[in-house]
Amino acid sequence: MAFALNTYPITYRAKFSAGKWDGEFLEKPHKTPEEEAAMSDDDRAKLEISRNCYEDMPLVNYTSQYGLACFEGLKALPQKKGGLAIFRPDKNAERFARSMEGLRMPPFPKELFLTACLETVKRNAAFGFYPPYKSDWEKDSFMTADSIYIRPFTISESGIGVNLSKEPYVMVINTPVSAYFSGGSSDAVVTDKIRATPNGTGWIKASSNYVISALAKSDALKAGYMECVFLDAVHRKYIEEGSSCNIFFYLKSGELVTPELNDTILPGITRASIIELARDRGVKVSERKIPIEEALEETKECFVSGTAAGATPITSLTYQEKKAVFNDGKVGDLTSDIRDTIKGIQYGILPDTKGWMTQVV
Ligand SMILES: *Cc1c(COP(=O)(O)O)cnc(C)c1O
Repeated sequence: MAFALNTYPITYRAKFSAGKWDGEFLEKPHKTPEEEAAMSDDDRAKLEISRNCYEDMPLVNYTSQYGLACFEGLKALPQKKGGLAIFRPDKNAERFARSMEGLRMPPFPKELFLTACLETVKRNAAFGFYPPYKSDWEKDSFMTADSIYIRPFTISESGIGVNLSKEPYVMVINTPVSAYFSGGSSDAVVTDKIRATPNGTGWIKASSNYVISALAKSDALKAGYMECVFLDAVHRKYIEEGSSCNIFFYLKSGELVTPELNDTILPGITRASIIELARDRGVKVSERKIPIEEALEETKECFVSGTAAGATPITSLTYQEKKAVFNDGKVGDLTSDIRDTIKGIQYGILPDTKGWMTQVV
């Protein structure tokens, strides 16, 4: 599976207590990567469970009971010149602190976030846990490339009554990941479900937002689509985003549009990067409201964006039984250009002129 949990042995845990953060790196049970690869599936599954268990952590808490948590997702990518580099970790650090503040938790300091992300990757790599760069990936624009997914997240302290978390934990784990969307269908469908409401938590990378996303995505997959697209909660008319990714429409007029940020849209770092790259190319980019009818009728190319998705083409969008096919069902020029540029910068085959990459090892 493309996005399976197979955590690397070094993890990080911090706890907020008595007004300050205290962090530590933990070495979970492991063998060498080669020995682990040679294990039976059952034995490897047992090892994985032991890595995913923390016996000294509370089971009953505001996260497990009420979904009070937020998280981040970023990648460390094998570099053509060697080593591993992380894409824009400072932006994830800032968003994580904003998310925690949005949930009224003490924010995790940016410097600690960066140290935890970089050091877990570095320490795991020292044990041999990292995907090596393969020049074969260049042939298909890194569609099949491997990377390390870094997942920072919060867990609350013990508690049972509905409440906010005053003394949360912050954990950081690393797990290897390959392509998020496995080829095949890249058809999307507009869902009836509502991901986020005004004055809610849609702008926060909150775990609870994903319950509705998972329901809608499962309906979409069952109906043969790759992705679902949400409309706004009030008018049921304006495009918002995908299940876990932002969305772009390249219109026949030559304008690239993406929904404007408000409290129901997650401010994606890939989204911001793509806006910058497209403007560099002289493409007119607008962040504005996009009525579903305009998206269906005026779109030349469509793609979704996110750390996991990169820039993934959407070749059709279905709304109330009406299916709009974009660019004759083929990946468009702007979409493939943006996708290749992002991947090229991330894997180090294009120059990092914007200083987006942080070399780790
Ligand atoms: C994480 C996320 C995105 C993409 O954000 P990136 O920073 O680009 O990875 C988009 N939408 C939602 C709902 C998300 O949770």
